[in-house]
Amino acid sequence: MSAPRVTTAPKVVAVTESSPAHRSGLRAGDELVSLNGRSPRDVIEYSLLVDEPDLDLVVRRRGRSDPLLLSVAKEPGEPLGAEVSSAVFDRVRTCDNHCEFCFIHQLPKGMRRSLSLKDDDYRLSFLYGNFTTLTRFTEMDLERVLTERLSPLFVSIHATDPDIRSDLLRNRRGATSLRWLGALLDGGIEVHGQVVVCPGKNDGDVLHDTLAGVLDRYPGLATVACVPLGVSNFSHESAMRPHTRAEAEAVCDTVEQWQQTFLDAIGRRMVFAADEYYLMAERAFPAAATYEGFPQHENGLGMARAFEAAFGGDEHAALGVRPGFFAAVDGAPALGYRAARAEPGGSGGGPDAPIAILTGEYGALVLAPLVSSLGRDDIRLVPVANSFFGGNIGVSGLLTGTDLSAELSRQPTGHRYLLPDSCLSEGRFLDDLTLADLPRAVEVVATDGLSLRRALEGTGTADTSPPSGCRTPQPARVPVSLGSPR
Ligand code: SF4
Repeated sequence: MSAPRVTTAPKVVAVTESSPAHRSGLRAGDELVSLNGRSPRDVIEYSLLVDEPDLDLVVRRRGRSDPLLLSVAKEPGEPLGAEVSSAVFDRVRTCDNHCEFCFIHQLPKGMRRSLSLKDDDYRLSFLYGNFTTLTRFTEMDLERVLTERLSPLFVSIHATDPDIRSDLLRNRRGATSLRWLGALLDGGIEVHGQVVVCPGKNDGDVLHDTLAGVLDRYPGLATVACVPLGVSNFSHESAMRPHTRAEAEAVCDTVEQWQQTFLDAIGRRMVFAADEYYLMAERAFPAAATYEGFPQHENGLGMARAFEAAFGGDEHAALGVRPGFFAAVDGAPALGYRAARAEPGGSGGGPDAPIAILTGEYGALVLAPLVSSLGRDDIRLVPVANSFFGGNIGVSGLLTGTDLSAELSRQPTGHRYLLPDSCLSEGRFLDDLTLADLPRAVEVVATDGLSLRRALEGTGTADTSPPSGCRTPQPARVPVSLGSPR
């Protein structure tokens, strides 16, 4: 199979003052036709090229008919100082599955198009932690991953039984594409897996069978996340429904049983149930130590325990956003939930004003005991129901400006309103509203316990925002539990 054809030259969106790119005359808006005679397919190749000591750039500039030739003098490894507009220059590989639980098919009409991109691209898995089903993975991709050590990757498993997996993905290639998972693990690639558990489909005996299959065939997996299906009011799939409490309890039991089996067999727990399961089951979260370093913290596994520890003052538990590989890629934009959320801060009421913490319905359950432990009667929680998506959507990361506006308009003026940054991306909510659209001023606080504690004490926020120079589309992380492409 031939390499994907390069269809778009990387477009420069920013040039750092006094950088090698700036000195060479490169400008924002320029298109990089080639670097030392090569046209990169993506920022992974781009980062290797710009690492070289001196560069000959062929540049297309608006208003000029001929390409420009620019010479860049730089040290090997010195950042070029140019930020490009996308991570993939040929074409994002889109998903060819039709999962019943897909969140993208559960979005209300009229949301911006970038939210509807169903990517299934190992490069975005490597760069941003998106989950891939590997149904479009090829031998050439494997060779590249192994050669360039594109690790870690994130793979959607859902079931290890071929028929059940292809049924869940509604794609016959789903039956065989996990062979690539085995090849990746054999090649020493770190892979994290996830199972979106759909009641009546892949829970119960199927989940047991899946975890047995993981232990049997993929014991080298770093982690496996069991996350619950999310169902919005816009789902058209009649077989998809939220878990009952008994089903959530059963998933917790299954995971804990298999954790012991994995511990006995390979010396680590490997499989974890999302925090939402413990909330649905009305059970205490497992102890922090059982999360083995919170490797899938951002996907809602152990987030509550990490938040609690950070709220209690443990700075190491203030995990925030882990920047991943893209932080080290010169010029790579941030995508998805790794995009910058919003500048922390903002003004609310005066320093002595009562404080209201805005949060999702699940977040309120986690925060209630922490806030009450402070013994302060000037702090209250304001759980915001998610009417925008409806269904069983209760996580703070999916709060929209619409629902926040409705709630805030019922709240008094002159109070301080704290808002977790997880529901924002580049200052925008999922419904495209901004902070300026809200009827009360709010203070944006990084979504970790330490930052919240500091905000409540009036001592600022912990710096957990992604590195500068990293921005892009898709607002707030869409939880894996909603069957996003992650
Ligand atoms: S859930 Fe993921 S793999 Fe399934 S259809 Fe949606 S984007 Fe594709």
